Amino acid sequence: MTPDLLSIVIPVYNESESLKLLYSELADVASENAYVIEVIFVDDGSTDSSWQVIEQLAKEHRDVRGIRLRRNFGKAAALNAGFDAVNGPLVFTLDADLQDDPHEIPRFLEAMDNQLDVVSGWKRVRHDPWHKVGPSRVFNWLVGRMTGVRLHDHNCGFKCYRSGVFDEVHLYGEMHRFVPVLASAHGWRVGEIEVNHRAREFGHSKYGAARFIKGLLDLLTVYFLTGFGQRPLHLLGSIGLLFFVLGGGGIFVLTVLWIVSRSIASMPVVNLHERAVFYYSIVAVLLGTQFMTAGFLAELITAHFGRDRKPYSVSQRVNGSEFNKQDAD
Ligand code: UDP
Ligand code: MG
Repeated sequence: MTPDLLSIVIPVYNESESLKLLYSELADVASENAYVIEVIFVDDGSTDSSWQVIEQLAKEHRDVRGIRLRRNFGKAAALNAGFDAVNGPLVFTLDADLQDDPHEIPRFLEAMDNQLDVVSGWKRVRHDPWHKVGPSRVFNWLVGRMTGVRLHDHNCGFKCYRSGVFDEVHLYGEMHRFVPVLASAHGWRVGEIEVNHRAREFGHSKYGAARFIKGLLDLLTVYFLTGFGQRPLHLLGSIGLLFFVLGGGGIFVLTVLWIVSRSIASMPVVNLHERAVFYYSIVAVLLGTQFMTAGFLAELITAHFGRDRKPYSVSQRVNGSEFNKQDAD
């Protein structure tokens, strides 16, 4: 079922040539399919005339809204500003550079009807240079392996979400690549559809080779947050205990050897400091202590600052929460 209003959030960083064309494509799709849309352009500190174009579009069309960030905060922040402003129950995100084809919107809606909460685009035939496509394949495979959310194209800018997702998923830094993973960790159902992808006509890509390294670091963060965000000591403490047992075991064995060698007259005395294992064991015990300490600190932080965040996500209620509250009184 198509909702009454489709919200479309578009992050914009120096894309002035594309905006009018993009809006007219969106407006065509809306009128062909009888959708009511709101197009929210978020100007992420552009230094070209993007904001002037957005202002002009907003003047001419009632379904266009604009938000201008004070400086370039990055795509995730721009998307976040857009999500904060949407009015509809479904939110689309599209890149502003015309690489995503608005004619795919009806297919996204079909997929949402099939019991999904997040639908990600998959640029199967991609019109990007090889140095972007290659690392991206490795990245997608790794994300799938580490998080269990197996999409072909996590970084695709073209996606559709139920707006409730953003009450629970907080976007910051460059986490825009991981919204499906973060949403899935809250129990939202995630899927993908193949989408038509076009070559960039105007301007240039805003991301270089460094994105791969940043993406990998963010992947580690997401792996930790989604798997152990509520129980950090289970990860850090396990590693700490392992080191502790190894180090403690080494020192124990050496100590036994020392005692035995001292009591047997024919055996040369085995002094602890003469064995390399002794030093490895000390390092292991220290590392173990470090990991345990970090784990307890992380638990303290989670217990203290996590109080306002619900450790669960509700999909439906029957006999609403007010009733249950009265019932309990
Ligand atoms: N973008 C943004 N802020 C930034 C960088 C990019 O809002 O700091 C927008 C950009 O205008 C575009 C989208 O994010 O609409 C994707 O950027 P780009 O096309 O450069 O990425 P690529 O397609 O090369 O992955
Ligand atoms: Mg692009």
